[in-house]
Amino acid sequence: MKILAVNAGSSSLKFQMYEMPQEKVLISGVFERIGIDNSFYTIKLNGEKITHEVELSNHSVAVGFLTKELLENNIVDSLDEIKGVGHRTVQGADKISDSVIVNEYVEDIIQKYKTLAPLHNPASLVGIKAFKEYMPNAVHVAVFDTAFHQTMPEEAFMYAVPYEWYTEHAVRKYGMHGTSHKYVSRRINEILGRNDTKVIVCHLGNGGSLSAVVNGKCIDTSMGLTPNAGIVMGSRCGDIDASIIPYIMEVTGMSISEVDKALNKESGLLGISGVSSDSRDVEKGANDGNKRCILAQNIYVRRVVEYIAKYYVLMGGVDAICFTAGIGENSISTREKIIERLSVLGIKLDKEANNVRGEEKLITSKDSSIPCYVIPTNEELMIARDTYNLVDEK
Ligand code: ADP
Repeated sequence: MKILAVNAGSSSLKFQMYEMPQEKVLISGVFERIGIDNSFYTIKLNGEKITHEVELSNHSVAVGFLTKELLENNIVDSLDEIKGVGHRTVQGADKISDSVIVNEYVEDIIQKYKTLAPLHNPASLVGIKAFKEYMPNAVHVAVFDTAFHQTMPEEAFMYAVPYEWYTEHAVRKYGMHGTSHKYVSRRINEILGRNDTKVIVCHLGNGGSLSAVVNGKCIDTSMGLTPNAGIVMGSRCGDIDASIIPYIMEVTGMSISEVDKALNKESGLLGISGVSSDSRDVEKGANDGNKRCILAQNIYVRRVVEYIAKYYVLMGGVDAICFTAGIGENSISTREKIIERLSVLGIKLDKEANNVRGEEKLITSKDSSIPCYVIPTNEELMIARDTYNLVDEK
């Protein structure tokens, strides 16, 4: 069965077409600069990458090119062969706790909570509409970033703010990257060979979050109402003292939107280092002796360690710690620094095994109290699996 996994951003569209249940990728690609000048798309097929410069005035035009590629490359003879399209969607608030078939109610939810994900939710709706136009007979499924975290208990998701902020304005922790946390926590259970586990997933990318997962269910995560909570990120501050915001507005005269931009786009690794939001540049700066880059790394590592320690206590132990996403999969030195600071728990790094990028691997030694793994995430595959399961049930 042919299943398409789609991730629509405000000016981009990524896709992967799978043959299910074999989980074989048939073709993948990305459309960039949709609605902007110099738009183009890149297709990956049979190990080859081909880029086409075309005008992409909107998402529907991009889907038009996508369907043309599917037909011309004989991936399908007719678009009706595509039985399901899984759409990555960000915010479903507390209304959606699993992947769901898109209907009017689901579209209303995506629309209703767009204020909580102003860049992402509207883009998902545009993507859904564009694909429905070309593939009206397919089952369209929304896979929400927030869904996996809906199992958090009240004491984990509530903030200690006036209760009416929750009842009247939906202010609570929702968490993000749920599709990645779900994929990695399932994969580690497969590796461990059991489901009664306590695991910590460290999704360390440009954006980053950790989750504590007990018996396959999330009990806490580091992102909050918005993605700007938890650990230090590329350009987001993560956890800060909330009263910094009124204080800095008062002393500088900055507006709400200026402060919001500073906390989302000018903070994190970029804000501390003054060099870059990209961890590779910060790593290089630190290796060259740049003090602010060293500080940025240290704060980054410390914050991850703090969350691991917190989840260790909350879960009453840990069976495995997993590293994933750009930094988690590729930054050997960041993993080393994190694991070294966990030695009090009896965790022991295997330096040779840790010399790995983008590959599934156990990176701690045999006598480590808790095994740590690199597990490359695969959100597209998770979307395809959920979509396939829902099409299959129908
Ligand atoms: P996004 O949140 O945008 O999906 P990614 O998961 O792609 O982010 O992660 C991007 C981060 O991964 C960047 O900070 C980048 O520096 C880091 N990264 C990617 N490759 C490497 C590498 N080889 N070594 C260190 N860091 C890397």
